[in-house]
Amino acid sequence: MREVYLDYSATTPVKEDVFKEMVPFFCERYGNASSLYTPGLDAKRAIDNAREQLAALINANPQEVFFTGCGSESDNWVLLQVADALKDKGNHIITTATEHHAILHTCEYLEKHGFEVTYLGVDEQGRLNPEDFEKAITEKTILASIMMVNNEIGTVHPIKELAAIAKNRGVLFHTDAVQALGNVPIDVKDMNVDFLSMSAHKIYGPKGVGALYIRKGVRIPNLLHGGAQEMGKRAGTENVPGIVGFGKAAELARVNFDQHVKHLTELRDYLAKRITEEIPDVFINGTMEERHPGNLNITFKYIEGESILLKLDMHHICVSTGSACSSKSLKPSHVLAALGVSDELIHGTVRFSIGDFTTREDIDYVMDALKQEVEWLRELSPLGPNKGWN
Ligand SMILES: *Cc1c(COP(=O)(O)O)cnc(C)c1O
Repeated sequence: MREVYLDYSATTPVKEDVFKEMVPFFCERYGNASSLYTPGLDAKRAIDNAREQLAALINANPQEVFFTGCGSESDNWVLLQVADALKDKGNHIITTATEHHAILHTCEYLEKHGFEVTYLGVDEQGRLNPEDFEKAITEKTILASIMMVNNEIGTVHPIKELAAIAKNRGVLFHTDAVQALGNVPIDVKDMNVDFLSMSAHKIYGPKGVGALYIRKGVRIPNLLHGGAQEMGKRAGTENVPGIVGFGKAAELARVNFDQHVKHLTELRDYLAKRITEEIPDVFINGTMEERHPGNLNITFKYIEGESILLKLDMHHICVSTGSACSSKSLKPSHVLAALGVSDELIHGTVRFSIGDFTTREDIDYVMDALKQEVEWLRELSPLGPNKGWN
């Protein structure tokens, strides 16, 4: 039976070429990059090469790229350590209501420790108004953290414009670019951000390795203390195979960027067209203008997304409802709630995320299963247009 993975925003498979680069660093080239003999220097060189590959993807200097344990660590590092370092200057942080939990839960933690956080709202298409951001800045604002691309609805935020506003008011600016990396152009110099978070497993690299871009001259205390790894900024013996894999994945993302975006956009638009034309009572969440090329977020009225997910799983199709991290809880997605979608409709929402290995045949297979299951679930549903739903 065909297996169709349409959850690339949750994680991606490691590409064969990435895996091949990583393999020697487990059993053969296993030196500790801090050691001064040849195998140590070999590991150090491999890390520096990966740093250059990742820097090239975002137009940074390699000295501005620091490897971490995951995207969540990069987000925590910025929020916790900037807050602590600047607490005498101010206690106000600005973010959005639609961030990833790595940002939201860290902000909630900071709120319990004396910080004030403004969660900017978005319009019904998920877009931020830069004027709202400007108005939220006060004398006490020390940091703004606004994601570049939303993980549930794919909305791309105007980071260059927002960072310019922050700069103008003397506020440090961070962006969580985990979903943006490899999917929309990133130029840290042009956007003029201070910090930018990344993760390998969303770009066909391994799980458990992330990175933080820190603009030259911007000071931030360490999150992890210990050895002098990562230019003294992040202690802990480096995950050499993981970092090498991240570097290779970044290089592939840079070289194949145009082709990747074209492939995703074509298949995503094909899926969107077929669903909206062939299945009644559906709507797309988020704007189609400024959007991640592989993201499609659809509400199927009168049914529960969780039951569609389980039905599709029986056809060996993987999709998600809300965001992957909260899919085990039945709490409605905070992102869709911020768009003003009602709880009932949020429960009927499915995220399809397309990637490099998706084919047109995969989409056709998904459509066959989807039409059948949606129709069946709607027949069973106590809800529905003629069943007291409103
Ligand atoms: C996946 C994701 C993260 C977390 O990255 P991990 O490496 O899994 O910790 C953070 N932010 C966004 C927007 C994400 O999609």
